[in-house]
Amino acid sequence: MQACTQRLNASTTRSLANPACATATARATHAAPVRASASRSVPSSHARSAHSRNRSARNASSNDKLNAGMPTSIGSPVASKAAAETEDSVLCRSVEEKRTPLINLEGGRQISYVRCSCSKCQGLVMCGDKQLLPTAVTPSHYDLHLTPNLQTFAYDGEMTVKLTVHEPTDAVTFHARDLKIASGVVLDSAGAERTNPGGPDVLYGDEGQETATVALARPLTEADVGSTVTLTVKFTGELNDKLAGFYRSAYPAPENPEETRYLAVTQFEPTDARRCFPCWDEPALKATFGMTLTVPDDRVALSNMPEATVSKDAAAKTKTVTFQTTPVMSTYLLAFCVGEFDFIEADTPEGVTVRCWTPVGKKEQGTFALDTAVGSLSFFGEYFDSPYPLPKMDMVAVPDFSAGAMENWGLVVYRASLMLYEEGKTPVNAKQRIGYVVGHELAHQWFGNLVTMEWWSQLWLNEGFATWVGWRAMDHLYPEWRVWSQFLVNEQSMGLGLDSLRSSHPVEVPIAAAAQVTEIFDAISYSKGSCVIRMLESHLGEATFREGMRLYVRRHAYANAGTTDLWQALSEASGEDVAGLMSCWTAQTGYPILTVASSPNGDDGETVVSVSQRRYLASGPDSLNDAENAVTWKVPLRAGDAFEASVPDLLETDMAVFDVSQSQRDESAMGALKLNLGQSGFYRVAYDASERARLKRAIPNMDEVDRVGIVSDAFACGASGYASTVDALELLDAYRADASYVVWSDVASGLGGLTAAFFEQPDDVTEALGRFGANLFAPLVERLGWEGERGPDEEDEEDAYQTQLLRQLAVARALAFEEPKAVAEAKRRFEAYVAGDAGAVPADLRGAVFAAALRGGGAAEFEQLKALYESADSSLEESLVLGAMGASKDADIIRAALDFNVTDAVRKQDGAAIVGSAAGSRAGKRVVWDWVRENWDAVEGKFGGGGVSSGLTRIIGASCAGLASEADAEAIEAFYLPKKIEGADRTVSQAAEAVRARAARVERDAETVGKWLLAQ
Ligand SMILES: [Zn+2]
Repeated sequence: MQACTQRLNASTTRSLANPACATATARATHAAPVRASASRSVPSSHARSAHSRNRSARNASSNDKLNAGMPTSIGSPVASKAAAETEDSVLCRSVEEKRTPLINLEGGRQISYVRCSCSKCQGLVMCGDKQLLPTAVTPSHYDLHLTPNLQTFAYDGEMTVKLTVHEPTDAVTFHARDLKIASGVVLDSAGAERTNPGGPDVLYGDEGQETATVALARPLTEADVGSTVTLTVKFTGELNDKLAGFYRSAYPAPENPEETRYLAVTQFEPTDARRCFPCWDEPALKATFGMTLTVPDDRVALSNMPEATVSKDAAAKTKTVTFQTTPVMSTYLLAFCVGEFDFIEADTPEGVTVRCWTPVGKKEQGTFALDTAVGSLSFFGEYFDSPYPLPKMDMVAVPDFSAGAMENWGLVVYRASLMLYEEGKTPVNAKQRIGYVVGHELAHQWFGNLVTMEWWSQLWLNEGFATWVGWRAMDHLYPEWRVWSQFLVNEQSMGLGLDSLRSSHPVEVPIAAAAQVTEIFDAISYSKGSCVIRMLESHLGEATFREGMRLYVRRHAYANAGTTDLWQALSEASGEDVAGLMSCWTAQTGYPILTVASSPNGDDGETVVSVSQRRYLASGPDSLNDAENAVTWKVPLRAGDAFEASVPDLLETDMAVFDVSQSQRDESAMGALKLNLGQSGFYRVAYDASERARLKRAIPNMDEVDRVGIVSDAFACGASGYASTVDALELLDAYRADASYVVWSDVASGLGGLTAAFFEQPDDVTEALGRFGANLFAPLVERLGWEGERGPDEEDEEDAYQTQLLRQLAVARALAFEEPKAVAEAKRRFEAYVAGDAGAVPADLRGAVFAAALRGGGAAEFEQLKALYESADSSLEESLVLGAMGASKDADIIRAALDFNVTDAVRKQDGAAIVGSAAGSRAGKRVVWDWVRENWDAVEGKFGGGGVSSGLTRIIGASCAGLASEADAEAIEAFYLPKKIEGADRTVSQAAEAVRARAARVERDAETVGKWLLAQ
């Protein structure tokens, strides 16, 4: 899944300690957090069976117990707490885990659980508080038939699942949420009913459990173990408006845009398959799926696999489409979609048909995504040495989608703005984002779908890897993008930003209950995960790394695996102890900062250099406690060939001291000692004054990624107090002639962080900072102009592409710093644009120009933006306008924009755009924070209850992201924490911590930096 959709504007909004992505994550629902000790409501005998999965209760007396206390008929939802309390106390929270031997499942498949070391569990549980289903029976094949009604938004469902019996049991428990179950019938292998024929004997779990249980009037006994029984459940559900489960999405009727119609589509990851149909909704419980949909006969019906049969009912004007059976896979990857679409298609060289499904009349907008998909599927087939395993790949763009895109096997669903591309209308950074997201989702077809994480605590394996290899695919397909430079300003800076907080988490994070899963679709799983993989690849070498990946995919195809399995495969390929090297990066929160200091050693230019490490925290070195101070990492130093004889490969202790000769410095291409060459390491470096002076002279000779690394580290160290911000500002002299987009992107980011922290400094200081920024970016705008050649006609494609990105950034920053000439030009162009000259504002500059027009204008410009929003003909255009609508300096207009945000005019998926835009400006930060608190009910009413990366959590993050005082941090906690918004706690504590770090920076920097700025 691509959970973060905020990065589109990263170049204009990013700041250090609060990457937009970090807040663009979790789901919030009204359900109470699951507490293991109080959540059991199934009968006690059944609960015990769940706790003792390995204790094969295969004797008569245990069967007697299983029967005791079992209700025979429960017709309505019941939450039975009876008898649950005592036995529930055996649920453990132990964290020491060991893999169990493999268990044989249907069809020769095997699964392996994590064994809890707790003395009470004694067996096959993945730790008692992980809220796992009992494994007395496990699914091998589902047949699911759904009949959605696109007018009433109700659907009927019938699900028959084949279950393998592993243990005697008196009940069958599965996941179900927001479903009405009419009946549940269990037939044994002989066809005899085991449920009460007078049923239905269905017991719903507590809200937090999201389960239902079918009671067995005649329990499954030892004699049934090893046999296959079937469970048939009839149920109804709602095509909800929560963007989770099986939900509806509105679109204008193709022949009459005034008419609103609805399509129905699924989003199941992580735990919303259970909102659509009863199932065993855990990633390790893979099964095959036979999907059938009965839909209006004029609609397109899609699922993971190609159609097998279609039968029509002329009277009912419906068709029933049955799809081919899927390979074994996890429930969260099942998908289907019913709507009106056009498509374009192409075959990969390997013969897989790829189709892009677009809104009717817009199929040519799928061309770029289609080309990228065809290239990516071929690339990954070769990379993993394993052909794409399904016969087809459908990709569909839907108007409402909470995440960016979802990698369902064979049916990838995208937010429309992340799949549809229009030449001349889609900005260059949005095009790049589309390419990257396609690569990411298709990487998952192998890494995630074919080999799946065992449990959600391993989410980073899916997401970190898909992120990294998605970029690798783009490097292959679009070399002119210079992907690995951009990786730094996207993934690496986001990962380093979020992981600089104490409230961050390790890459491998314990996940107890479903509700917590949504919290970790964040920059740690995605960005830090991808960075540590890149660091490892650069350590092992590309070919060795690929060999290990191939081994891993081959070994675990159609099954589940964890981090240790990946390290095992890479160790076999490389002969190195990969687990020993990597555990500090995946099991520990945070990362190190290396401090480099040198002193002369004699007269011949030799220096004694010391490199020491300690944890980097946004709150600064003084805030480290003893335990934090004691943590070390195994850090690849990467000083380059010239220093090979002196500098160790790996810093494994807290300090290393070595001699560096003048001849080594002379031999180095850059003439200075720079660590983390190539910037593949996930850490920061601070240099003392003498090394910094050498580096500053060497900057023009450095590669692009190293130039980025120097300035990025300098601003980060300034922001957190590991060095002075003035040092970073003075370094900028060395960059004035730089022509690299990524370098300037990082400079913009560094200044953006400073501007955000200083928003309540005196006017003369903020104005001086604005002038400083304007003076940096104005010469770039002067040099590049507002428009230029674009496309394949330009002689050097790479130069043309990079120039396009740099122009977009330079104009956006010049406008944000209110450079007068740029502001006047934006105003002129905006006026021509709203007067009907669509070409007056180049596509790349549209968002920045809209914001500038509102910033310099008033109510009239606000109304003009609203009109542009209403007439937008793509969701990308809509989001560009929304992203500008909070940019006013007038508090009344900002409030009007925030009021507009809670009207029906704004889609749920876009809920954070206006809030983020307003919170990004000096004038807006306080207005947003006050408005959100005053209007919380409206905000929660509209955006609450959704799936992963719900609008609500993003809004929470954006509402307070810009503040910079201790009092604000306390107010944030006081307002949000008592609300106990599910899945939002981490966002709140991260926001408060980032605000405190900014407050500390103001305390530290305000005077010296203010003086420095005023002297410029
Ligand atoms: Zn993903």
